[in-house]
Amino acid sequence: MSEAEKSPRGVLYVVGIGPGAKEHCTPAALAAIADAEVVVGYSTYIALVRDLVQGKEIHRSGMTEEIGRARAAVERARDGAKVALISSGDAGVYGMAGLVFEVLRTMEWKRDGSPELRIVPGVTAINSCASLLGAPLIHDFCTISLSDLLTPWPVIARRIEAAAQADFVIGLYNPASGRRTRQIVEAHDIIARYRDGGTPVGLVKSGYRSIQKVVLTDLDHFLDYEIGMLTTVLVGSTNTFTFEGYMVTPRGYTNKYTWDGKVRPGQKPARSLVLDEAEAPLSQEHSE
Ligand code: SAH
Repeated sequence: MSEAEKSPRGVLYVVGIGPGAKEHCTPAALAAIADAEVVVGYSTYIALVRDLVQGKEIHRSGMTEEIGRARAAVERARDGAKVALISSGDAGVYGMAGLVFEVLRTMEWKRDGSPELRIVPGVTAINSCASLLGAPLIHDFCTISLSDLLTPWPVIARRIEAAAQADFVIGLYNPASGRRTRQIVEAHDIIARYRDGGTPVGLVKSGYRSIQKVVLTDLDHFLDYEIGMLTTVLVGSTNTFTFEGYMVTPRGYTNKYTWDGKVRPGQKPARSLVLDEAEAPLSQEHSE
């Protein structure tokens, strides 16, 4: 028996399926799920792609069974099956991709061994939620997960403080759950030390799913609204403004240019990154 027959090379797709609606799942992600014989994922995500998984072997599990789910997926694929492990949004953003690598490392997996790994990107919540709110991420932003199940709260609090101080737009994933309600209040208190009470805040619950809810409010009032496991909270920077019910962070063009394209007094025009010959005679760069 040849080596290849003894251990066929399986495939492990690690797939982000986007926020929920099929239209926001990429064609590559849909193709990966279609190609798989085995589909592994949290029940809610399997339900989101239920029409694609008919006739396949399905492994559903609850939220707290991630390690078992990742192991099962890796082992089936190692033994030769085509397996799709699915996460919502992007599997590499607070998703299953990291755990897959930890499992592979304990198995001393080699890149050219089995399974072949194919990581398929998806639209992560900060992007899908931003699109429902307007254009809040036009300038520098960061995301912070408020879940302290795996990360100690002082670490999270320090990151919130640094982000608030540095004037990032802040996307808060996992802001609260049924039992975990204190973190979002503390996050508010930290951010309020650096930002005005009128700073725009957007709340998106279940974006691009049938129960979608979008709220545009401000730092002083956002805690009055329902915030749960399926909500992403976007806190504006000091420059973010609201317009016609949208949340917008300016890129800064109008600080530099007038609307007719002229450079404002005291501003330098932007220079192209293509250097002219006098500055960088490329043709002579390597000549002696
Ligand atoms: N891998 C996922 C994130 C998983 S963490 C991704 O890339 O999007 C789970 C958190 O993601 C939730 O608590 C919520 O903050 C956010 N989230 C995921 N899907 C969402 C959706 N459809 N609408 C709003 N927030 C969502």
